[in-house]
Amino acid sequence: MVFIEQNDNVPADVSLELLSRARELADNLGLEVEGVALGYGLQNWLPNLGAYGCDRAYALEDERLAHFSSIPYTKGLVQIIQKHQPRFMLFGATTTGRDVAPRVASTLQCGLTADCTDLQIGDHKFKKRSYQDILLQIRPAFGGNIIATIVSPESRPSLATVREGVMKKKETHSPPTCRVIQESCPWESGDFPTEILEVVRQAKNVDLKTEKVIVSAGMGASSPESLKLVRELADLLGGEVGSSRPVVDGGFLHKEHQVGQTGTTVRPNLYIACGISGQIQHRAGMSEAKRIIAVNSDPEAPIFDIAHYGIVGDVNQVLQRMIKAYKQKL
Ligand SMILES: Cc1cc2nc3c(=O)[nH]c(=O)nc-3n(C[C@H](O)[C@H](O)[C@H](O)COP(=O)(O)OP(=O)(O)OC[C@H]3O[C@@H](n4cnc5c(N)ncnc54)[C@H](O)[C@@H]3O)c2cc1C
Repeated sequence: MVFIEQNDNVPADVSLELLSRARELADNLGLEVEGVALGYGLQNWLPNLGAYGCDRAYALEDERLAHFSSIPYTKGLVQIIQKHQPRFMLFGATTTGRDVAPRVASTLQCGLTADCTDLQIGDHKFKKRSYQDILLQIRPAFGGNIIATIVSPESRPSLATVREGVMKKKETHSPPTCRVIQESCPWESGDFPTEILEVVRQAKNVDLKTEKVIVSAGMGASSPESLKLVRELADLLGGEVGSSRPVVDGGFLHKEHQVGQTGTTVRPNLYIACGISGQIQHRAGMSEAKRIIAVNSDPEAPIFDIAHYGIVGDVNQVLQRMIKAYKQKL
């Protein structure tokens, strides 16, 4: 079962990505994929979730649920889970998912693993007990120094959150319709302690997830001169500027540019890493780029282990030459 997050009746990308992954896992086990959505006006779009592998969607409709609110959403989700008893329950690791998933987990006394980077089905043995076909929740731990596989074999459901962009959204072109089942929940007025007067959204200026070309700046390219060259090359190639985390922490670029475990996960056709050492937390967000070019003055930098093309040299000199060469080709 996947929690289908929506904003103004547009399903969140992460929910569609989770449905696609849930479909693959369910097919391996001969199970069905279910979604659960809360809001107002859900009937108009829930049937379309069939394109992402959702067999059935439970709809909890109420005008007061149009915008997310922790208490009524938690109550509704707990009720659906108790009634339909899914084996696994997936949430996007968004602001909403991170709010509601722990509340659901603690109400149901079930295990929850946050920010999984992979989900698999497998077996597990512990103290002479063996568990078959349980959810293996895989994520970096201890600051990214190990990749841990976390299981909660005795909790039903096992709950997990996954960040946007980690799983791939897979759309079927001749989709079966998703069956929508209206559910009701006995909300009381006390379940709505917050009154939402107005919702103001800030438009995203940068959406790295959709970019085909990303030129990324690390601490080796964080000077104003280097950042100007990084921007120039990104513009020339019709792409966007990415960055490592310290560049954001240092205030050189805004958070929406950050790539990695605590930034955005990207899969562009081309990723040019400029002055980025290539620590595991950065690689977690970009290692699936189709082509990686790394520019670094240190020939031993770990980024070269995953780069398809490596250039050892000073970032400013290399970027200037790349820009010049590209301009000559235009
Ligand atoms: C829980 C946790 C989450 C994290 N999440 C993220 C994340 O989402 N994204 C992320 O990026 N990091 C993340 N980090 C930080 C990560 O561990 C690294 O510290 C970070 O990625 C390093 O950034 P960097 O490569 O820009 O800097 P550095 O490691 O300092 O590397 C700078 C590189 O630039 C090269 N260089 C220096 N001068 C030049 C020059 N003139 N020309 C060419 N090359 C030069 C150096 O050789 C070096 O390789 C996280 C850490 C933790 C603990």
